[in-house]
Amino acid sequence: MQASKALLAVLSLSALTGGVQAADEVVVYSSRIDELIKPVFDAYTAKTGVAVKFITDKEAPLMARLQAEGENTPADLLITVDAGNLWQAEQLAILKPLDSALIKANIPAQYRSSTGGWTGLSLRARTIVYSTERVKPEELSTYEALADKNWEGRLCLRTSKKVYNQSLTATLLEAHGQAKTETIVKGWVDNLATDVFADDTALIQAVDAGQCDVGLVNTYYYGRLHKDNPALKAKLFWPNQGDRGVHVNLSGAGVTRYAPHPEAAQKLLEWMTGEEAQALFAGINQEFPANPGVAPSAEVAAWGSFKADSVPVEVAGKRQAEAIKLMDRMGWN
Ligand code: FE
Repeated sequence: MQASKALLAVLSLSALTGGVQAADEVVVYSSRIDELIKPVFDAYTAKTGVAVKFITDKEAPLMARLQAEGENTPADLLITVDAGNLWQAEQLAILKPLDSALIKANIPAQYRSSTGGWTGLSLRARTIVYSTERVKPEELSTYEALADKNWEGRLCLRTSKKVYNQSLTATLLEAHGQAKTETIVKGWVDNLATDVFADDTALIQAVDAGQCDVGLVNTYYYGRLHKDNPALKAKLFWPNQGDRGVHVNLSGAGVTRYAPHPEAAQKLLEWMTGEEAQALFAGINQEFPANPGVAPSAEVAAWGSFKADSVPVEVAGKRQAEAIKLMDRMGWN
């Protein structure tokens, strides 16, 4: 009697202050924009009745907010892109290790944190884009070969400030060590046709327009442009098929350390690694499902299959600081 009175008092006080949230809700902080996540959450709500509330922002402010909110955070789940960012989130201790046999069964270990803080949800390759007017695919082979003299004045790169290039360089460091990676990156910088680009889309447009002949981009940016303009004079090439394979990165998510609804959050995340959600989540952004049992969309499958690098993607985080310093030393702006 005493206990239930106390509970009632707590409940009514909480209701007044808005401190209690219904158990059938999950709150998400997402650096993926509304249109890429809302259809997936809507499908989950339709299926389970669980409401999914979300806010979207860039990853840095979202992570800073989680840190500042600490145990008072309303957020249950953090969704962001790039293993480099997810690794950072884990370093900031804003994620709680997952313990889910289902997620382990659905997502290969190389696309999850080794310490359990996050799981990949969709995959993108960072690969070579080339001009169909000025380059024959036979001339292409590896990321490393883009440092050769014959590409002088022909290569376009995005800024080294973007985590995607930091992650790519981190995997080069893992494969080759520092000295050889310096030579490769220096070769790329020496081969630049123009200043670095602020985004991948502008880079692909520069290849299409004849400003450069080859570049490095994430596959979904190519997919978006190609969808708008099927006559795009640029194609994707899968490098390093004779050795370690194409650099693959991901979007992913983790349950927050102080999630008010940790079980509901994990259930949502588990569902997101399953067949229905994987096809939807990857398909919306022309990405590859992280669950190997789920086929990519027809437009993504049309790019052809390839061997992906088998290195655990968290290397992107572990060697990020080293990669940033190396890129800076080699003059990659
Ligand atoms: Fe992107």
